[in-house]
Amino acid sequence: MDKWKIETDIEDNGRHLSGHIIKSIKERFVKHSISAGNLTGIGIGVPGFVDEASTFFVTLGTGVGSGIIVNGDLVNGPNGTAGEIDHTITVPHGRLCTCGREGCLEEYVAAKGLRRSLRDYLRNFRDSSPLHKDSEVIDIYEAAKAGDALAVHIVNDAAYYLAYALANVVTLINPEKIIIGGGVSAAGEKLLRPLVAHFKRFVLKEADKSLSFEFARPGNDAGIYGATWLVMKRLGYFQNML
Ligand SMILES: [Zn+2]
Repeated sequence: MDKWKIETDIEDNGRHLSGHIIKSIKERFVKHSISAGNLTGIGIGVPGFVDEASTFFVTLGTGVGSGIIVNGDLVNGPNGTAGEIDHTITVPHGRLCTCGREGCLEEYVAAKGLRRSLRDYLRNFRDSSPLHKDSEVIDIYEAAKAGDALAVHIVNDAAYYLAYALANVVTLINPEKIIIGGGVSAAGEKLLRPLVAHFKRFVLKEADKSLSFEFARPGNDAGIYGATWLVMKRLGYFQNML
């Protein structure tokens, strides 16, 4: 284990800060003769990095990653599982999850869940579709954008389950912001529109009053990096960033 500090560079409104952090991590890799693949975990504390008091982050990649910041602090829990929306049970007695339980969110949304939905739908779907059992998630998104009925069903289902899970999070922790990143940008409006519509139906109105949604795109906002770092690492994004 290693712990170190770097100078907080506030020049240009902190624009160089994330670059300096990445550089310092790379230097640590050299110092310890390890690569990003050997890393078990990393945490970054940066003054002013996240200005929202309470935020929920979710990234959709192969699976679903997430994190909670409450009153400015990242919530870990004694076993480090706090904020793991991916293994919240969304469908009781639903699809078997890799965690050994049934009905976890990640079996219904993101790449893993969408491909599973595709295979389920294909068993009974008789209309023509460009999709087949080995289609990639990007094919599903593209087909949905082109209006393919099967793809639209799959993406709508994912939006429904994610909305359901997010509405429960918001009802429970009453965050000021939900930041959604990852593969969601490939789905675009086809996922976001039904997601927000379902969310509005599910969420407790009182908890929704001060909430805003933000859709993160790579490189657009250094402010989200600190807290999404842990999430990205779990989804394997970390290697690409370094
Ligand atoms: Zn699970």
